[in-house]
Amino acid sequence: MENKKILLHICCGPCTLYPLRVLRDEGWSVTGFFYNPNIHPYREFRRRIKALETVAEVKDLPLIWDKTYGLRPFLRAVAFREDRRCEVCYLMRLEATVKKALELGFDAFSTTLLYSRYQAHGLVKEIGEDLSFRYGVDFVYRDFREGWEEGQEEARRLEIYRQPYCGCIFSEQERYDKKFRKLLKKKEVE
Ligand code: SF4
Repeated sequence: MENKKILLHICCGPCTLYPLRVLRDEGWSVTGFFYNPNIHPYREFRRRIKALETVAEVKDLPLIWDKTYGLRPFLRAVAFREDRRCEVCYLMRLEATVKKALELGFDAFSTTLLYSRYQAHGLVKEIGEDLSFRYGVDFVYRDFREGWEEGQEEARRLEIYRQPYCGCIFSEQERYDKKFRKLLKKKEVE
């Protein structure tokens, strides 16, 4: 019998390694889907694509790419709701994934966002399940955070780029601007 086919939304190379191993061990035939209009600026976007290209080659992973740099649509989508931007961001990426899975006849979809310790895990799960219900494609939920160390270790071994911030220019500021972080904590950011 042929393996069931899953479309795995991929945020970046390092986060792919552990989920890919688990899904393959479970018997899924995995295809990756790169769609991340949230990664800025442009040179960072290209750098993350390069890291994933390496992973795809080493792991023999088929990939569907959307390499359009999505700065403008992303900023329009989160404008005036910057504090809730992650929810919008997850929805943008997972909705594109479920639509692609439906269009191409995949049995299920999932996301490497479930691997990151830095994402709102429960919210990713909730959005995935809601989209699954709306589009009629199974969402495979796993707590991939369990394999954090394994994935990070392998990324180091492969010497691929491991990014220091989540992706959007807002998260880049939160990572490097200490003053801004303090204001955020005190909720003094407009
Ligand atoms: S912090 Fe990360 S998840 Fe949240 S909006 Fe920015 S890129 Fe998306």
